[in-house]
Amino acid sequence: MPATASPPALRSLRVSRLPVGIPRRSVAVRCKVASFAPTILTKLQKECATPLPVLRHVADAMAADMRAGLAADGGSDLQMILSFVDSLPTGNEKGLFYALDLGGTNFRVLRVQLGGKDERVIASEFEQVSIPEELMFGTSEELFDFIASGLAKFAEKEGGKYHLPHGRKREIGFTFSFPVRQTSIDSGILIKWTKGFAVSGTAGKDVVACLNEGMERQGLDMRVSALVNDTVGTLAGARYWDDDVMVAVILGTGTNACYVECADAIPKLQSHNSSSGRTIINTEWGAFSTGIPLTQFDRDMDAESINPGEQIFEKTISGMYLGEIVRRVLLKMAEASDLFGESNLEKLSTQFVLRTPHVCAMQQDNSEELEAVEAILQDVAGVKSDLNARKIVLEVCDTIAKRGGRLAGAGIVGILQKMDEDTQGQIYGKRTVVAMDGGLYENYPQYRRYLKDAVTELLGSEISKNIIIEHTKDGSGIGAALLAASNSKYEHDF
Ligand code: ADP
Ligand code: MG
Repeated sequence: MPATASPPALRSLRVSRLPVGIPRRSVAVRCKVASFAPTILTKLQKECATPLPVLRHVADAMAADMRAGLAADGGSDLQMILSFVDSLPTGNEKGLFYALDLGGTNFRVLRVQLGGKDERVIASEFEQVSIPEELMFGTSEELFDFIASGLAKFAEKEGGKYHLPHGRKREIGFTFSFPVRQTSIDSGILIKWTKGFAVSGTAGKDVVACLNEGMERQGLDMRVSALVNDTVGTLAGARYWDDDVMVAVILGTGTNACYVECADAIPKLQSHNSSSGRTIINTEWGAFSTGIPLTQFDRDMDAESINPGEQIFEKTISGMYLGEIVRRVLLKMAEASDLFGESNLEKLSTQFVLRTPHVCAMQQDNSEELEAVEAILQDVAGVKSDLNARKIVLEVCDTIAKRGGRLAGAGIVGILQKMDEDTQGQIYGKRTVVAMDGGLYENYPQYRRYLKDAVTELLGSEISKNIIIEHTKDGSGIGAALLAASNSKYEHDF
């Protein structure tokens, strides 16, 4: 959607505020007027608006980009990566399995004893270990040695209800939430590190081989049976309990989605044959960009980011960025008006000081004087505010959360729509579950509501009764263990 033209009042102000040759900042200070903040807010609300036609356009574009990405590698913004997961958990899985999740500042290890249809999860335990910062910038060997030794310590504490038959190796599902070109269910080449990791000697290598070598060096005799993305793990974990789960979406620091696709709807599939006729596709939808209403604040944030021009959907809807967009709007308001009185703007000028959890916490403030908003503005952004300023701040937070949530909802409908078209109504015509996970979705009630409202608006009240959008907490860990079970090299359960 094109940026909306400025209202006439703003246009004339802008001309008078920025005469040629006078630096922007001094002009802004000289012209501080209280009414500028509401004007900026009105313009922001207009540019971020996501009425039904905008949502519909985004959903249609998502469906079209999915098709183009399935047709050929590089066919669209969406990579539509093959997960090599062709069989989903059925509930019949039995045995002892491990999972390892590496996706951020922590890694998690999990063990689970599966008892089949009747007993399901007999026992499970997990541990979380934080990764020392120096290892995020170290060598591949150092990182994988650290992980393997954590895993070895965890494995040593096995006992109680956990049983492994004689002669059988422990098997592990490895959730790795960095971009990987998957080459089989148990191998994949790291394309690049993201999320602050800069480990040398891993890019271009098989991450399963790296883990296997680490385990060997630690004397740990385990076998990686499945390498999975966190969205794929979430889908598998949710599917274990509910056969109607067809889509999984992560809304956390970043965002991604995956879904169950028919093998014959994937022209680029070629050599890989799916035995079940179905496979999970990891969309990497964070890279989507068509039809997203953007503002100058988004464009500036993108231009100054480490990956300009990339991950536009992610930058508009995910947890890493919502707070930063709000900060940029507030800074502009503070520079152009007396929104925060004579406050020093140094802190507010620092990129990423205001995080999405702060924005969320401000929106939960129901007090008359908005004391929590005042405290966060003071403590986090270093600015003083009166009640009127706090109300404007809340409007900004709401505008950015609303756009994010509604666009995420439109993205989900895009996926469902594509699946429904291909299956002659098999998605909208019966109960279909979208499994949701991630800290943003889990903790931000307004965002969640906006997302669900957008889905209902797009689908209409009848169809939306069939579409269940459901939070699956920590499904990805157990999902990876279940995929290790369904891809076990041992034929028989015990
Ligand atoms: P990751 O995506 O890094 O694997 P999570 O799924 O736990 O991790 O999501 C963490 C992200 O969720 C944070 O970076 C933050 O953006 C968002 N988040 C966490 N808590 C909140 C909150 N209370 N309100 C809004 N967003 C939150
Ligand atoms: Mg995660």
